[in-house]
Amino acid sequence: MESLRGNVPTGVLIAHDQMKSKGKRSVAEVRNGVCSGCHLTQAVGNVHGLKSGSLHRCGNCGRFLYVVEEDEQENKPSPARREPTKPRRKPREESSATQGAKAR
Ligand SMILES: [Zn+2]
Repeated sequence: MESLRGNVPTGVLIAHDQMKSKGKRSVAEVRNGVCSGCHLTQAVGNVHGLKSGSLHRCGNCGRFLYVVEEDEQENKPSPARREPTKPRRKPREESSATQGAKAR
C-alpha cells in the first residue's frame, strides 16, 4: 500500500488511514462479484469499473475493492457428484488346478 501512495488520490488516502487507524483492513478483494469483506454482491458496473482500473468502495462495509480474477477452480457444486471409484480387487481364485493335478 505504501508504494501506491503517490498514485492514489488524497481522499482515498485519508479514508484508508482512517480505516487503518480503526484497526480495520481498508481493502477487500472481490471474487465472483462478491465483496470478501462483507460478502455483499457488488453491482456489475462496479466490478467492471474495478477491472478497468477505477476505484470503488464497497457500499456496505466501505472497504476499497480490488478484483481478483477467478481461476478455473469454481466453487460450483457439480450436478452429478462422482464418487471416487475404488480399485476393484479381483477375487483370487484358489488354484484348484494344482489340487486336481495331484490325483494319480
Ligand atoms: Zn463489503
